[in-house]
Amino acid sequence: MRILITGGAGFLGSHLCTSLVSQGHDVICMDNFLTGRPENIAGLMGHDRFRFIKYNVCDYLHVDGSLDAVLHFASPASPRDYLEYPIATLKVGALGTHKALGLAKAKRARFLLASTSEVYGDPLVNPQPESYWGNVNPISPRGVYDEAKRFAEAMTMAYHRYHRLDTRIARIFNTYGPRMRIRDGRVVSNFIVQALRGEPLTVYGDGSQTRSFCYVDDLIEGIVRLLLAPSTEPSVDQGTDTVPYLRHNWTIHHPVNLGNPREVTVLEIATMILQLTGSSSGIKHDDLPVDDPKVRRPDIQRAQALLHWSPTTSLEQGLSLTIDYFREQLKASHSSPSH
Ligand code: UDP
Repeated sequence: MRILITGGAGFLGSHLCTSLVSQGHDVICMDNFLTGRPENIAGLMGHDRFRFIKYNVCDYLHVDGSLDAVLHFASPASPRDYLEYPIATLKVGALGTHKALGLAKAKRARFLLASTSEVYGDPLVNPQPESYWGNVNPISPRGVYDEAKRFAEAMTMAYHRYHRLDTRIARIFNTYGPRMRIRDGRVVSNFIVQALRGEPLTVYGDGSQTRSFCYVDDLIEGIVRLLLAPSTEPSVDQGTDTVPYLRHNWTIHHPVNLGNPREVTVLEIATMILQLTGSSSGIKHDDLPVDDPKVRRPDIQRAQALLHWSPTTSLEQGLSLTIDYFREQLKASHSSPSH
C-alpha cells in the first residue's frame, strides 16, 4: 500500500512509519514538527519506501500519485502540549481532519483517525466501552483536545456515511514507550525522568486517580490490524451474547478502543517506577490539573473480537524498556541542554 501518515514524526506516528515501512509499504510522512521531532524519523530518511514532507495538515493538501490509506495522527497529545497550543490543537482536530478526509476521498483511500480516550472526558462509567458517550466539559482547558477529537470523529463518520469513505476510528488510551520526549509532560515520561535525575516525582493531587498504560508496540500492532481489517461489514451476529459491543449494527467503521485494560493509580505507577529505576527520589504532591479524569480504563472487547488483538507487554516489561530508553536520552541530552 501507499500510505500517508500525518503527524508521522510524532511519538505514535513515527512508530507507525517504522512498522509500515518494515512491512513493505510505501510511507509518506507529513509533519510540521510542532510536537513531532526529526530524530524520530532519522532512521527512515533515505529509505526508498519512505518520504518526508514538512507541512501543516491544516493547509490545503496535495499529494502526487495514488494513495491507498491516510492515517491522521497529527495533533498535540500530551496535556502539557495541548494546553500550550490550544488553538493549534483545535485546528488540527477540526480543519486538519477535514483536509485529511478530503484527500482520502479524492484518492479513494482508506482513512484511519487517531482518536482518544479523552472523548470520554471524566467518565462516569468504568471501564469505558465504545458505546459510552462520555462526560466532557467543552469549556475546560482540556476541552480543546477533547472537543477537537469528538469533532474529528463526527466528521469521519459523516464522510463514511455521506461519501461512503472506508473509515476507521481508533480510540487510543494512555500509551508510553521509546520516542516520548524528555519534556513530554505525561506521567510515565515525567516520573521516569524525575526518578533517573534523583528529583522528586510530581504526583498531581492525591494520586488516587487511575490510568491504564499500553506499551507502544502493542498499540501499533492494534492500529495496523484496524487499518488492514477488511472493509466488508463483519458478521455481527456471532450467535452469542458474550460480545455485546458487536451487536447493534456496529461495524469496523465504528470506534474501537485500543489500550491496556490493567488499571493502576498514579501513586502505584510512581512506586513501580521508583522500584524499577532503583531511584531514591521521593514523591511530592502538586495541584491536580482542572478536570483531570478520575478513572480511565478501556473495555477492549470490540478490539479483541474484531481484530483478535490484546496487549501482550506487561507494565513491568514495558516500563523497563522505557527506562532504558530514557537513560540513553538523558546521557545524550547532557551534551545538548535544549532537550
Ligand atoms: N500526572 C501526575 N504527575 C505528572 C504528570 C501527570 O500525577 O507529572 C497525572 C495526571 O494528573 C493524570 C495522570 O497522571 O491524572 C495521567 O496524566 P498524563 O498527563 O500522562 O495524561 P492524561 O491521561 O491525563 O491525558
